[in-house]
Amino acid sequence: MHNRLLTNVSRCKRGLSDNGSCQICNMGQENLLHVIRDCPETLELWRQIVPRSLWRTFSSLTLDSWMRWNLNYRVGSKQEEDWKQVFAITCWWLWRRRNSTIFENKKISNLTVLSSVMATRCCLNEARDRFRVMNGLERTTATAGALWKSPPPGWVKLNTDGAFSPLSPGIAAGGIVRDEHGAFLRAFCFKGAEGSNLTAELWGCLLGLKLAWDMGCKCLVLEVDSTDVMELLRCSASETHEDRQLIEEVKAVIARNWKVEIQHISRWGNTAADQLAKASLSAMPGFHLVTAPDTALARILENDRG
Ligand SMILES: [Zn+2]
Repeated sequence: MHNRLLTNVSRCKRGLSDNGSCQICNMGQENLLHVIRDCPETLELWRQIVPRSLWRTFSSLTLDSWMRWNLNYRVGSKQEEDWKQVFAITCWWLWRRRNSTIFENKKISNLTVLSSVMATRCCLNEARDRFRVMNGLERTTATAGALWKSPPPGWVKLNTDGAFSPLSPGIAAGGIVRDEHGAFLRAFCFKGAEGSNLTAELWGCLLGLKLAWDMGCKCLVLEVDSTDVMELLRCSASETHEDRQLIEEVKAVIARNWKVEIQHISRWGNTAADQLAKASLSAMPGFHLVTAPDTALARILENDRG
């Protein structure tokens, strides 16, 4: 592994760069172990997930033994039985963070890395479960961890989604606001001008947030199934991003005087918003408020409430 990835130290040796130092901390020489463990910022991240009793071993092994140790041993507590998976996914995201820092000049926080790790893990587990069900290995519902859940007491939840079809011009988005019991409060459909799938997702967030704000919500969980959107909203978007203005607008609404938690949900748990977004593809341009669910949506809502 360490011979294949081009760290700054090896880029230097090959004459591809004249700076071998780490651009995240500007201190250490950027070899692979520095990127995925020893950078102070990265150590801080690991400290949050590695049990304290194992920290000394974890933070002192050399690259090869460290890899072997993590991939062979169960480092974590009982709840963390699949450490191997968490470890591998975390390393992969740390490597991606390093690339974004160097090549895109983006700053990505530990929190963002951790939530991406969790989202990836969630997707992998779902895929595995679905595969098992398809093969008749398990007869229970595949998506136990992927179902929609009501927000905590006192909170409302907004689910949004975007839709895009090569068959109909323009983008579409939809969203739904539900209370702590999973009951329908409001929903919307939106048909907009051209843009990418990501533009559609962002429009969904923006309009949904504005709707929830206008409804007087004080504590809101915003749930989206796009990890790209989560990443964009949690870190500073690059100056050159084509949706930069939209991103800034969404962030400005989030920053108003209320509590907004952004969460990731699998696509299979986000069917209500997905349905609204898809329906919007054939809607008239503009924003349409939905004050009562139609039959199709009502069925999904009932399903979500379990
Ligand atoms: Zn560093």
